[in-house]
Amino acid sequence: EPALSIRGLTKVYGNGFRALKGIDLDVQQGDFFALLGPNGAGKSTTLGVVCSLVQKTEGKVSIFGIDIDRDFAKAKYQLGVVPQEFNFSQFEKVLDIVMAQAGYYGMKRSEALPRAKQLLTDLGLWDKRNGSARMLSGGMKRRLMIARALMHRPKLLILDEPTAGVDIELRRSMWEYMRRLNRDEGTTIILTTHYLEEAESLCRNIAIINNGEIVRDTSIRELLAEL
Ligand code: ADP
Ligand code: ADP
Repeated sequence: EPALSIRGLTKVYGNGFRALKGIDLDVQQGDFFALLGPNGAGKSTTLGVVCSLVQKTEGKVSIFGIDIDRDFAKAKYQLGVVPQEFNFSQFEKVLDIVMAQAGYYGMKRSEALPRAKQLLTDLGLWDKRNGSARMLSGGMKRRLMIARALMHRPKLLILDEPTAGVDIELRRSMWEYMRRLNRDEGTTIILTTHYLEEAESLCRNIAIINNGEIVRDTSIRELLAEL
């Protein structure tokens, strides 16, 4: 079964705006997948529905075969999410932020602490663990969100514009980190981006969304061959 399957997804916001007009999408297990489109295309809305942050109007969404309407509580264990906005308390300590996530997923402290150490080390944040999050640079905050999202070892990681506003050097190191995660741990990764270059550098498959509709769904190789 696919890591993510979306059928006939529509979203009409409270003001009557149709942000998604019937989207179909499959992302296979182990894939590195880009959802590419201009600002306002519907990328965040799509991911919001998958993460159950946005209530859909119509359609079906399954994560590893689990229908999110039936059992989001179960599906969420397979899912790690890195939203665009920083959504942790700036006054909490870095280590506490990732440990709170572990608690939320029912991990024991004895299991969570080594996991936190490994992730924060790999992401260059272990030295900062006892400082409060507001002391971190923007790029560090973004990496903190990645560490937090990975604490419970999700099989599917979803990142909304992970490198927006990140400088080129850090962007490269984040790309390398995501590549390793996909290659070495087999984590399925879906990211949204409005840079073709980012999709091209990282991803195997791509869907292009515009005006709430999927206009292409193909491999990067095929797409590039056409350009
Ligand atoms: P829903 O229909 O999912 O409940 P709402 O229409 O109630 O969503 O809007 C949720 C929030 O998003 C509101 O605070 C609203 O003001 C805000 N919002 C409205 N329009 C936009 C927009 N174009 N982009 C982002 N946020 C918006
Ligand atoms: P993207 O992530 O591709 O930039 P979004 O999914 O954030 O696009 O937004 C898609 C469209 O839906 C945009 O036109 C946006 O203004 C609108 N939109 C987003 N959130 C809301 C909301 N809460 N209420 C009304 N319109 C919204």
